[in-house]
Amino acid sequence: MAIVDDLKTIEEEAAAGIAGAADLAQLDQIRVAVTGKKGSLTSVLRGMGQLSKEERPVVGKLANEVRGRVEAALEARKAELAALELEAKIAADAVDVTLPGRRPAVGHQHLIKEIMQEAEDFFTGLGYVVEDGPYVDTTYYNFTALNAPEDHPSRSARDTFYVVDPSKDDNELLEAGHNTDRLGISELLLRTQTSGVQVHHMEAHKPPIYMICPGTVFRPDTADANHLPQFNQIEGLVVDEGITFGDLKGTLDAFTKAMFGEERATRYRPHFFPFTEPSCEVDVSCGVCHGEGCSFCKHTGWLEILGAGMVDPNVLENCGIDSERYTGFAFGIGAERVAALRYDLPDLRMLVTGDMRFLEQF
Ligand SMILES: [Zn+2]
Repeated sequence: MAIVDDLKTIEEEAAAGIAGAADLAQLDQIRVAVTGKKGSLTSVLRGMGQLSKEERPVVGKLANEVRGRVEAALEARKAELAALELEAKIAADAVDVTLPGRRPAVGHQHLIKEIMQEAEDFFTGLGYVVEDGPYVDTTYYNFTALNAPEDHPSRSARDTFYVVDPSKDDNELLEAGHNTDRLGISELLLRTQTSGVQVHHMEAHKPPIYMICPGTVFRPDTADANHLPQFNQIEGLVVDEGITFGDLKGTLDAFTKAMFGEERATRYRPHFFPFTEPSCEVDVSCGVCHGEGCSFCKHTGWLEILGAGMVDPNVLENCGIDSERYTGFAFGIGAERVAALRYDLPDLRMLVTGDMRFLEQF
């Protein structure tokens, strides 16, 4: 019978198609093509009307068996494919808990703080104490006690931020013998140097004194490549019996090498500061050209790094220290200047603009 052969062929083709179906969508296409309303098996069953009475039950039974087997195969493959697809989805969504995590960004100290800390470590290693003082101080501690004459240019409002004191009027200041170019402003100022801390310290402590006062100072400078209105100083003071210029040189030579490197040389040039006598400026040999001369050191082979000198006896006397018995030296270095020289910074403003691309390098 031709119809029996047709059923056999349909069953074989369906079995092959079901086994080869790659996914659920493809399997459904096979289902529609075989057992759907217009499917091959359905159309065979429709043609049964043409069969004889004897043939009909035989073919009908066979057709139902084929349909049953095809549907069972479809169901089995469907379950298989569904399981595979679920497995693939789980694999795609999987999290590998053994992968290393992403480290959160951790901050670090600002370059200037690091330099200040380094300087502190050097001097505390020599037995110095670290002192702090007020940002707002009086003209006495910032200038007068430090031997700066009343008419010294650094006292003018162009070089110092004065704090307005509404409780005092001009007449009171005049009666107090106040410098006339500072009328209307008070005796209070934002410290222009940390030297005032040294005065406070000498008033409270008797020699021997070995101290440094690192800190922020303020001057009415417009910020540019070489100036900042707010910057940081590391100043130091030694007062003891028998202190000489040789002690100053030995200390600052060691400090310079600690900050810039063992191979760096120093030189001392005479200078003037009201606070010290004799006074000097200290240069360190250029780290770029090693003294040969280059554009970084303006072809001198040297870079100016700090000011220093023997403490003026007047300053010792102002603080109640016997200048016949005791001598001392003082020095001051700018932390921003150390940073600029160490890292060849073209512009000091880079230190305060907070650009992380710059700061993260240190
Ligand atoms: Zn040079």
